[in-house]
Amino acid sequence: MKGMMMHRPLLVSEILEFGAGAYPNAEIVSVRTEGDVHRETYPEFRNRTVQLAHALKAQGVELGDRVATLAWNGYRHMELYYAISGIGAICHTINPRLSAEQLIYIVNHAEDKLLFLDTTFVPLIAAVKDHLPKDLRYVVMTDAGHMPDAPYEVLCYEDLLAGQSTDIEWPEFDEDTASGLCYTSGTTGNPKGALYTHRSTVLHGMMMSVMQSSTFKEGASVMPVVPLFHVNAWGLPYSSLISGMNMVMPGPAMDGESLFKLMDAEKVFSAWGVPTIWQGLLGEIKKQGRKPEGFEDVVIGGAAAPRSMIEAFEKMDVGVGHAWGMTEMSPVGTHGVLPKWMDDEPFDVRVDYKSMQGRRCIGVDLKIVDEEGNRLPHDGKAVGELFVRGNTVVSGYFKNEEATAKALDADGWFGTGDVAKIDEHGFMSIQDRAKDLIKSGGEWISSIDLENVAMSMPGIANAAAIGVKHPRWDERPILVAVAAEGVEQPSIDEIRDHLSSHFAKWQLPDDIVWVETLPMTATGKISKLNLRKDLADYTHPELRESA
Ligand code: AMP
Repeated sequence: MKGMMMHRPLLVSEILEFGAGAYPNAEIVSVRTEGDVHRETYPEFRNRTVQLAHALKAQGVELGDRVATLAWNGYRHMELYYAISGIGAICHTINPRLSAEQLIYIVNHAEDKLLFLDTTFVPLIAAVKDHLPKDLRYVVMTDAGHMPDAPYEVLCYEDLLAGQSTDIEWPEFDEDTASGLCYTSGTTGNPKGALYTHRSTVLHGMMMSVMQSSTFKEGASVMPVVPLFHVNAWGLPYSSLISGMNMVMPGPAMDGESLFKLMDAEKVFSAWGVPTIWQGLLGEIKKQGRKPEGFEDVVIGGAAAPRSMIEAFEKMDVGVGHAWGMTEMSPVGTHGVLPKWMDDEPFDVRVDYKSMQGRRCIGVDLKIVDEEGNRLPHDGKAVGELFVRGNTVVSGYFKNEEATAKALDADGWFGTGDVAKIDEHGFMSIQDRAKDLIKSGGEWISSIDLENVAMSMPGIANAAAIGVKHPRWDERPILVAVAAEGVEQPSIDEIRDHLSSHFAKWQLPDDIVWVETLPMTATGKISKLNLRKDLADYTHPELRESA
């Protein structure tokens, strides 16, 4: 028997109307490419979004059309998120750090109709424009007074909005209609498009508000440093409006000094981003001898948060939430909020738990499997490939039958390509990307674990562990590291000594290679692929000796 409750489609426009109506004083504060700080309240944001929706219709944008954005975190990018999806078109966010080749591929693959870009990216498009669709039109996200001299025809964002009505009857359509498109930054092959629906986006937004309920206090300020141009800024564009948080957008200025200044001025309570961003902020905190005023919560994800980073934040009373997810998961899958019963655990035990990637979010199922696909127990010991299932997980890839055919296992679970263990409380610990695990003498070594402990040494600012060829053991681990400024560089023996309390002898790295910087991917992770290419001529010390 079916229940007798109304069925209203879950639509992104509902979040906008809810946020603007429920929290009239909440603000979106943005550092602009124009150089100043802009403020608008949620109702002002809602009205401008409605004007933009009318402007898009006037430009001929229809249900299902793709409209691309190439922009920093700011209020106009937020307006695009809601206006494009609100009228039933698809907001295609483009990561400006992709290679020219990948950018050309995805704009052509998505068949974007309009492309909105920040002034910063006008030259980037000029360089590739000849390879983009001929009928694609460009809108620069600024006002008439700041329009750059573009070497191609461009429209002006504020001119499009001017004079448009602030009244709208948002269209209603099926909740499974596509609302957003984000391409993975896959290091091999062409990027693959995750095509979100209104339903998955609304559910993910609500899920994130629930997961953050202990820190998402209405009227407090949250700062997404995680970009709106990739992985939906971890759902913050939606969860902030659901919970009534002020949003503080850093724009292009994401170095430690700029972030500190903005956080201090806006009393940012909760800040979200990848570990490399927080390395910069921690450096500035050290320099200033204090943390930014009002800063109490940091969410770290996108790559494993080093234990030393978690300790540093926790010691200054900034609570760390360690989150894990993927483009294909909207993107958040697990989140490391500790339960109340862990309040009295010693500091080190709490940091142990925070170093893991947390527990699954409501609506996300996790399983780990062995090489034959058999489920492994959640006992904190068994390590296997991680599969996920849920309403916020992709069921395939946009216009890519080959990748779609490979995405799910026979039971309909999505293979993440990550290797993990899960303990009896549900805490998940990512061990590696499957392809980055180091296999020595038939036994696996987690590169993430090695990196984590190595980075707790004062002389090491950043580290990556990779496997190199070895005639007897197949592969042996080595460390590639960036030295910390002003601290003596440790020797390989000192490093091995430091690591030996955490690892078995055979797991210790055989060598260390010092580098100026580590290669990064477009999404702020260490690029092991490029690192291996950089070290193509490297030979293991034993081979050097025998040569
Ligand atoms: P992306 O689709 O760009 O968000 O990349 C997703 C991948 O980033 C995951 O499959 C993981 O390999 C990695 N990742 C994300 N968050 C974490 C985390 N907290 N710890 C370790 N790896 C992570």
